[in-house]
Amino acid sequence: MKKECLSVIVPCYNEEEVLSSFYKEMCRVSEQFPKELEIELLFIDDGSRDRTLPILKELAEADSRVHYISFSRNFGKEAGIYAGLQNAIGDYAVVMDADLQHPPEYLPEMYRTLAGGEYDCVAMRRVDRTGEGKARSFFSRCFYKLNKKISGIDIVQGATDYRMMTRQVVDAVLSISEYNRFTKGIFAWVGFRTKWIGYHNVQRTAGTSKWSFSSLLRYSLDGITAFSTVPLAISSLLGVLFCILAFLMMFVVLVKTIVWGDPVAGYPTLITVILFIGGLQLLMIGILGQYFSKAYLEIKHRPIYIAKERRLAKPAKEKQNENTSHSE
Ligand code: UDP
Ligand code: MG
Repeated sequence: MKKECLSVIVPCYNEEEVLSSFYKEMCRVSEQFPKELEIELLFIDDGSRDRTLPILKELAEADSRVHYISFSRNFGKEAGIYAGLQNAIGDYAVVMDADLQHPPEYLPEMYRTLAGGEYDCVAMRRVDRTGEGKARSFFSRCFYKLNKKISGIDIVQGATDYRMMTRQVVDAVLSISEYNRFTKGIFAWVGFRTKWIGYHNVQRTAGTSKWSFSSLLRYSLDGITAFSTVPLAISSLLGVLFCILAFLMMFVVLVKTIVWGDPVAGYPTLITVILFIGGLQLLMIGILGQYFSKAYLEIKHRPIYIAKERRLAKPAKEKQNENTSHSE
């Protein structure tokens, strides 16, 4: 019987403190896999500035199941996930964080669910957010609600990037080659039968989170613009509404002056209205600009990542002259 292979894709950015415990934990959990399942550990070094790459090299020397790609600079986790999916050799692939916040003990259960054939994708969602800042959880919840309303793409509350999927889903995700990659939205967009498993939030084993509040805010705005053009529709709608309002006002003022001979007063109101409409116009131009800038970056067709070093299972000839991944 042909052995099946599971690729474990792990984006790493400055993770020297956790890599060895992650590897040990993975080795422990992989014992629980059925005999006919091989695993590939594919680490993506996202331009780390610490000892992440040397540690990965050591692991790869000692264990032939370990492969890695090292980026020329930090391209972000989304690029890491893309590179991982692109270079994974498995019949199944799972994406997980290096900091053990995505508990590997769920892997056997996830694999069994997929092997059963009923589902194409198994995704983990956090049922609580213990250990996370109150403000961060609050804004995060707001974002998911807003995103669902605006883009119609239902990202399940607490959804994480911890997911196992079949080759078919991997290929579907790879077929979306856009530069602005909002992976959570992409997974929701490609569809397929997904099973959600809830788990309790786990604290990072060591090291610090790479997300600041401003980077999370940018991430959520990117998420909205990547999947929805509703903000553009809202701005057009507001434009129409204000035109109607302006005509009504004009009518009222005309009638008041002509019929009752009222002198037109109201300097403060006038200034307020001018400022309000001026502000609104700038806001709408800003929204337009957001989409325009996204489109601008997209048409440049820049590669999603640039690899500096790699050690992969794929035959060298396939990858030899290809140092970059183009978003085509
Ligand atoms: N990560 C990455 N590139 C980045 C930021 C993060 O590859 O630019 C990786 C990081 O090494 C970790 C995962 O993405 O494996 C999740 O990052 P982190 O734990 O900092 O995020 P959090 O768990 O706080 O959401
Ligand atoms: Mg983490």
